[in-house]
Formats: sequence, structure tokens, C-alpha cells
Amino acid sequence: MYLEKVQEVIVGEPVPGIRIRNLNEARVSGTSNYVVYWMTAFRRVRYNFALQHARDLALSYKKPLLILEPLRCGYRWACDRFHRFVIEGMIDNDVSCSDKNVTYYPYLEPQAGSASHLIETLSKQATAIVTDDFPCFFHPHMNRLAARRVACPLVAVDSNGLMPMSHADRTFTVAHSYRRWMQKELPEHLHGFPEATPLANSKLKGIPQLGEVPGEFLQRWPRSEIDGLLASTGLFHFPIDHGVAPGVLAGGSREAKRFLKRFIAQRLASYDGDRNEPDELGASELSPYLHFGHISAHEVFSDVMESEHWNLGKLSIPNGKVEGFWGVSKHLEAFLDQLCTWREIGFNMCFREPNYAQFKSLPTWAQETLGKHKNDPRPYVYSRQQLDASETHDEIWNAAQRQLVREGRIHNYMRMLWGKKILQWSPDPHTALRNMVELNNKYALDGRDPNSYSGIFWVLGRYDRAWGPERAIFGKIRYMTSENTAKKHRLSSYIRKYSADGE
Ligand SMILES: Cc1cc2nc3c(=O)[nH]c(=O)nc-3n(C[C@H](O)[C@H](O)[C@H](O)COP(=O)(O)OP(=O)(O)OC[C@H]3O[C@@H](n4cnc5c(N)ncnc54)[C@H](O)[C@@H]3O)c2cc1C
Repeated sequence: MYLEKVQEVIVGEPVPGIRIRNLNEARVSGTSNYVVYWMTAFRRVRYNFALQHARDLALSYKKPLLILEPLRCGYRWACDRFHRFVIEGMIDNDVSCSDKNVTYYPYLEPQAGSASHLIETLSKQATAIVTDDFPCFFHPHMNRLAARRVACPLVAVDSNGLMPMSHADRTFTVAHSYRRWMQKELPEHLHGFPEATPLANSKLKGIPQLGEVPGEFLQRWPRSEIDGLLASTGLFHFPIDHGVAPGVLAGGSREAKRFLKRFIAQRLASYDGDRNEPDELGASELSPYLHFGHISAHEVFSDVMESEHWNLGKLSIPNGKVEGFWGVSKHLEAFLDQLCTWREIGFNMCFREPNYAQFKSLPTWAQETLGKHKNDPRPYVYSRQQLDASETHDEIWNAAQRQLVREGRIHNYMRMLWGKKILQWSPDPHTALRNMVELNNKYALDGRDPNSYSGIFWVLGRYDRAWGPERAIFGKIRYMTSENTAKKHRLSSYIRKYSADGE
């Protein structure tokens, strides 16, 4: 089988087997021409187990490596904002591959469905196709469909986070049990990091050259001229939502790395307080880059730990607590809790529970208490259109929604309040869920991610416990108010900035 062959690879350690899943039973053909890396979620050339595994296969079989990075336009919520962000990432990937012995093939669908037979057609001459094992949104379905259609082995590799998704044998329903388990289990996986630069020229020796993509593919699916697309009118040709304009963040791995460096130099030392202050820029702002795969959790982890000269010897005995396990400053411990507990518990949920996006996936106590209060009178009821247009009586909430619409993000603390108010002002909890999913995923650069569903379902009780006293509408669900937020947090500049006539 092809995996055994990878063990003979000449460079470094093979990708840990726990991260690799065969999606079909096809066998390697003796007459194949290349190995394909089908880059759909981990859109980067650094710290990427999937790319590394594809390279290892190319080395083992002595075949050229073809990196296909497509961008569909028929997916739900496709818009200028997400297209631009992804294309900026493609430009970085193109530059990174330009002096390497690999062929980079960016392909943007001009019409919904144009790419649907591309992977199938490429597979007829492929040794194997390696793709990204992202557990959310359209990706699992797309991979299942491709597995039935392709003519060669299709392998999905998990490069989502520090903990391999397959390692857990249960779904975690509260953060403290995930945290306790993670502290015991993660250290062994910290020995198996992806290579920082899997495409370094020294690691590609022995791979034959493909050069350009074979002409028969290019005639039907021409290589996209990505540079020109970002000129002002470039995206108008795509049948996507042009009403959601590009946000304030530029996409790509280079920009992601710049954000990471800035976070370490300027924000990490005060992260544990400033992160919750809307007037401060206290957090990393990395979530869009993590979502589109422009940076990996491994690289983030590696750089923040390096900034405190950390090594594995500093780990304490697992204590299940937010602080005290890693042996670093309290600010870094707080950041690691977001990166290693809160981020990865969502991947655990999406990977294991196909109904992760449905109301019925909420804990029973939450469904019961929301059900009991679903007919309670609401002080205000807003339609989705009113919410979308920031037309509520509450200027604090309107500011958060305007930030989302204008910039494609919401300050972390405001995001919790944003969700709780949607629960309060929607006609019933099911509609509240639909409103949150629609607005979050339509505008947020980091939307359509396991974290999106963690955050939105947290508003409705996931990963939380019952709180008293029992209140109207919320029942035992945790409650938040704009008044308390204004009392406890610094947000006057935030409200000014995101007022109706703000910047
Ligand atoms: C209603 C609601 C919706 C949300 N929707 C999303 C979403 O669509 N996409 C998204 O990435 N996050 C979402 N979150 C979680 C959180 O708000 C963001 O991850 C965080 O604000 C991103 O900012 P940052 O990168 O500066 O985070 P930092 O504080 O710098 O944290 C670093 C990384 O840790 C992870 N992280 C941080 N906070 C959380 C959290 N509460 N839950 C899960 N992971 C976390 C993110 O990957 C983040 O990039 C949502 C939260 C709520 C309450």
C-alpha cells in the first residue's frame, strides 16, 4: 500500500499516521504522472502536514508535485470579502512556490460548478491526491463526494491544530474536561510538529519536474491570473455577493506572520486583561488567518513559546486549570487556553458530531430551558434585516454589528454580547440561531469555522452550565446586558468608531 512506501522517505519524519485518513480504496496506478496536493483549507506552504505528506509521496514515487489551490464561487456566502482574502493568500503561495521544484496551479471558478470535474479529471493521471481534513462547512461533504469519483487514492490529512482530531475517542461538552484531557494528551503530540518549510529546495531533491500544468487541463480549467484580479473591477466578473465588500484585513501568509510578530512584540505582555477591553487592541486578530489556513496553530504556538524561551521541560503536572500548566507567563497561559482549549474543542465537536450546526446538538438542559421560555414576551423583536442593518435601539450592539459589516470581524468581548442580544431579540431560540449563523458567516472573515459554531452555540448554552436566577427568555442560559458591559469595560472609543457616522 502507498503508506508503507512513505516510511522510506528520505527527508525527516513522516507525518504522524493519526493525522492521515484514506478516503477511498483506490490503488496507485503504475502509469501515473504526478502527485496532487489539493489545497482547500490549509492555504499555506509552511507548517502544513498535508503538503508535507504530498511531498513525501512525490519523493517516494519519484513523481512531480502539483499543488492545486482552487477557489469555488458557488459556496454559501461567497462574496468579494472572502474572495479577496483568499486571492491575497494565493499570491503569497504563488510567490513561495515560484523558485521551487513544484507546480503551483491556482484555479478560480468563473461560474459555480466549473471546478466540479477538475479533481476527477486530474485523478486519472495522478499517483495519489492529498487533501485537507477540515471538519466543518462544505469540506467534509466535498471530500466524501470526491472520494467516490476519483480514480486514485484520496488521502485527507489533518493539519488543523496541535491535537490530532482522531486522537479523542469522545466529544467534549465542557471546556474544563477538554482542558484536563488536553493537558495529559497533548505533550506527546508536541514531538511531532510539521516541518516549517516542507518545500525547501533541499527537501525536494529527487522530485522530477512537471513544469506547467498539462495542456489538456489548462484548456478547460485555465490557470487563473491571480495578480490582475485584485484591480478594482477584478471581482465583478464572479457570480458572488458583491454587497459584502473587502474588510480591513489583507489575506495571506505574509500578513499573518506580520500579525503574529506584532502580537508577540506589542500585545502578548498584557493579553490577559486587554483582550476583553473593546477600546484596546489586545488580542492577536489571527482568527481569519487561522480560518483560511494562511497560518497554522503550530507556527503560532512555536513563535509564542519561543518568545518566552519555553521547552517541554517547563510543563507542570496537568492541573485542569487555565493557568499553571505550561510554565509560562500568565498572559501566555491565557492565550494558550484560547489556542489549545477553546479553539480545539470546536474541532473535536465538528469532527465527531455531524449535527454540530443543528439546534438539537445543544445540551439537553439548554434545549429544555430555552424551550420552556420560547414563548416569553420579548422586550424588542428585530427581523434579520433590521439586525443586519444595525437598526436596534441599542447603540452598543449596533456598534458591534457595524464593525462586523464594515470590517469582517467583531471584538472578542463584544461578540459574546452580540450573540446574547440576538437570542433576546429574536422571536424564538431557533430563529436566534439562524440569525447568528447567517450574520456571522455572511460577514465574518473567520466565519464558517468550528469556532463559529462554538461561539454561536455557546450563546445558547454549549460548553456552559446552567445559571441562576432563571430569567425570562434566557431561562437558565447565561445572561449578558449592554449596561453591564458599559459599566465594566472600556468602550467609549469603540462606540464612537462604530457609530453610524463613524469611520
Ligand atoms: C457569538 C460568537 C461567534 C463567534 N464566531 C467565531 C468565528 O466565526 N470564528 C472564530 O474564529 N471565532 C469565533 N468566535 C470566538 C472568538 O470570538 C474569536 O475566536 C476571537 O475573538 C478571535 O480573535 P483573535 O484572533 O484576536 O483571538 P485571540 O484572543 O488572539 O485568540 C487566538 C486564537 O484562539 C482562538 N480563540 C480565541 N477565542 C476563542 C473562543 N472564544 N472560542 C474559540 N476559539 C477562540 C481563535 O482561533 C483565535 O484566533 C465567536 C464567539 C462568539 C461568542
